[in-house]
Amino acid sequence: MADQDTRAQLAEHLRMAKELGVAGVSRDPAWRTRAPAGASAREALPMIRDDLGDCTRCKLHTLGRKQIVFGVGNPAADLMFIGEAPGAEEDLQGIPFVGRAGQLLTKIIEAIGLTRDQVYIANIIKCRPPENRNPDPDEVAACEPFVVRQVQTIHPKVIVALGTFAAQALLRTKDPISRLRGRVFTFGDAHLIPTFHPAYLLRSPERKRDVWEDMKKVRDLLQADAPDPS
Ligand code: SF4
Repeated sequence: MADQDTRAQLAEHLRMAKELGVAGVSRDPAWRTRAPAGASAREALPMIRDDLGDCTRCKLHTLGRKQIVFGVGNPAADLMFIGEAPGAEEDLQGIPFVGRAGQLLTKIIEAIGLTRDQVYIANIIKCRPPENRNPDPDEVAACEPFVVRQVQTIHPKVIVALGTFAAQALLRTKDPISRLRGRVFTFGDAHLIPTFHPAYLLRSPERKRDVWEDMKKVRDLLQADAPDPS
């Protein structure tokens, strides 16, 4: 009976991984270690962080990172923001989106009536690439299982992919953000909305209107799934 339960859990996990676009199975503990059945997201997220440990899975651990930037926010969030990788300020503080772009993200969150504490914020890559270069494919392959586990654990209703890199990585596409934004995708059970990265908005403020349109969609999706208060 226990074997049957284990097999059923494994089948469910593989089905979920396939829906999330996982192309293969790795022997890395990033994929193997799981929170015990019934663990809440509040309990399970620290376990994922423990599995990450003082990570040396890709070369970014040798390229000047000060610390791993895991993610912050509400473990039971309905809304999750996923960016590319930590920048200099994030690397210093160990918190994603705390620089100027982070302050703009906070305003974007508040514009739909939420606070940073109510959402969860993470990056695809947990260590700062030198000179803020784009992450290499081998770095993405090594680190991505952890953000997928964060999504599976938090189980948000809506994910906002911030910028080209996050949207392309999550959607397994090479399409530019200009072609992806304005549309609603799915990622597992969640709606996925790609939008411009706040750092890009600092350089191109005329695109803020587009982001506001995307965030109205996010708000509508969250409200559509919310229980009727009456
Ligand atoms: Fe590990 Fe991710 Fe940092 Fe690479 S980027 S060393 S996989 S935590």
